[in-house]
Amino acid sequence: MAERSMALSIVQFPCLSDNYGVLIHDEASGRTASIDAPEAEPVLAALKAQGWKLTDIFTTHHHPDHVDGNLELKAATGCTITGPREEADRIPGIDIEVGDGDSFDFAGHPVRVIATPGHTLGHIIYHLPEDKVAFVGDTLFALGCGRVLEGTLEQMFESVEKVGALPEDTALYCGHEYTEANWRFAITRDPDNARLIARGDEIRRLRADGLPTLPTTVAIELETNPYLRTRTPALAVSAGLPAGTPSEIFAATRRAKDVFKG
Ligand SMILES: [Zn+2]
Repeated sequence: MAERSMALSIVQFPCLSDNYGVLIHDEASGRTASIDAPEAEPVLAALKAQGWKLTDIFTTHHHPDHVDGNLELKAATGCTITGPREEADRIPGIDIEVGDGDSFDFAGHPVRVIATPGHTLGHIIYHLPEDKVAFVGDTLFALGCGRVLEGTLEQMFESVEKVGALPEDTALYCGHEYTEANWRFAITRDPDNARLIARGDEIRRLRADGLPTLPTTVAIELETNPYLRTRTPALAVSAGLPAGTPSEIFAATRRAKDVFKG
């Protein structure tokens, strides 16, 4: 029988203006992966602070604020870069291409790849079911979702629903600290949601202290994220649409956010 692998250590740190870098580390093997690489410097600093050596980068999508550190980190550490097959030609230094439904092993920790097109067409997320954690890039944010830049609103709806369908105790690490601004919009769509109101106080307290609001969890997002609440009456009313039309409600909500001046 295989020995149960130890819990991963996870370190999150700010990059650029509002991105997060994340390192995951398996103590027994010494393997360490960076989830995306917004810029090399803070990733190298975090590695040094932990005493870890980078072995992998797991890329979610091709945007510069997620891949600009790839080549410098690869040159400095010799790490292997895994990323989305569908946009491999736009991932600097990519070694291993993965797509929807693929699974691979990270130091004894199973990793599942899930395609989440919409923000970009090839966007993927990494789910580690045994570790109860998912790295969702710019697909879902705390109280928000990514802008639909390449795909359709229908695609993005389906992608966001995939994140919402993960086990409720899954920790979600997202690409950006957008939570406070997302709350200001969310409360206009779901104004009587007591959990959302309470979460606003919590978010403002954390941000006032300069602390991250992430990671979040699937359970918290199902209770408060407007894009995962398209089956609730409040979101239908705000969208001016009949209940029971979740993808239309999603699209109307996402469009309203695009022009929201909070
Ligand atoms: Zn992006």
